[in-house]
Amino acid sequence: MIGAVDIGGTKIAVGIVDDKGKVLSRMDAPTDPQRYSDSLELIAHMLRRTAQRSGAQITGIGIGSTGPVDPLRGEFGDVDFLPGWRGKSPVKDLSAVFNVSVALENDGDAAALAEAGWGAGRNRKRLIYITVGTGIGGGIVIDGQLYRGVDGAHPEVGHQVIDPAGPQCSCGFRGCWESVAAGPAMAAWIERNAPVNYPHRQGITAKRICELALEGDAVAQQAVETEAFYLGIGLANLINLFTPDAIVLSGSVMKSAALFMDRIHALIRSGCRFVPAEKTQITPASLGEDTNLIGAARVWHYRCKEGT
Ligand SMILES: [Zn+2]
Repeated sequence: MIGAVDIGGTKIAVGIVDDKGKVLSRMDAPTDPQRYSDSLELIAHMLRRTAQRSGAQITGIGIGSTGPVDPLRGEFGDVDFLPGWRGKSPVKDLSAVFNVSVALENDGDAAALAEAGWGAGRNRKRLIYITVGTGIGGGIVIDGQLYRGVDGAHPEVGHQVIDPAGPQCSCGFRGCWESVAAGPAMAAWIERNAPVNYPHRQGITAKRICELALEGDAVAQQAVETEAFYLGIGLANLINLFTPDAIVLSGSVMKSAALFMDRIHALIRSGCRFVPAEKTQITPASLGEDTNLIGAARVWHYRCKEGT
């Protein structure tokens, strides 16, 4: 039984995952961006509690974390929103507490490994995992191996430029995929484009826009159309660059994937003419709400059991 730790900017989820990718018990707590050692104690406490609840003994620990992380050294990098965690090594620290092997990956890579091993990406030689929520992230798995860049770097699919005249992004460019197609970009589109008297403007979210579109709201339908266009351009770029067997889509915005898919497929057909784009299957993730937690457990299998 693997102890899984998913560290996000606002929440830490901890659970016990069996060797088929099933979550047996789970807990979560808010992330403390400043105090690392208190957070580590809390993680250890939650691991013990969830193990106790599922009657399991922890034989290894996998961690998926919001980046940047150095997976090979097992350390946090320059994480803007977790300043107290910079340079710390949860791999070394949890391994000392539990006396088991521990491995760490970026959360997009962790989820990609989970979908490749236990989810919708099984039996796919070349898989790209994309998550669209408050940001856009992902991971690439080729022949069962995680694609790593120089120095083990994690590629940032969400920062491919889609519209150079688009909104400024924290990465330095304008109009990255994340800044035009993540959930907050849908809400921002409404703020910019909806008529002044549009009744749903206040506090609108991507989820609400999708609901309104389904109810026939014309403004929301336009926002959905724009979202599908930007999602489609980013996916078409990935198909032209990698010609993968499958792209697996996850994240809160992708719960409404049915609203976007016709437009996305039409865009891909119109622009990916020099590659066999029709052979790339675009499919929803299959592991559900716990993809990141399951991914954290998969990190242990990938790094410590398979020894990669
Ligand atoms: Zn960017």
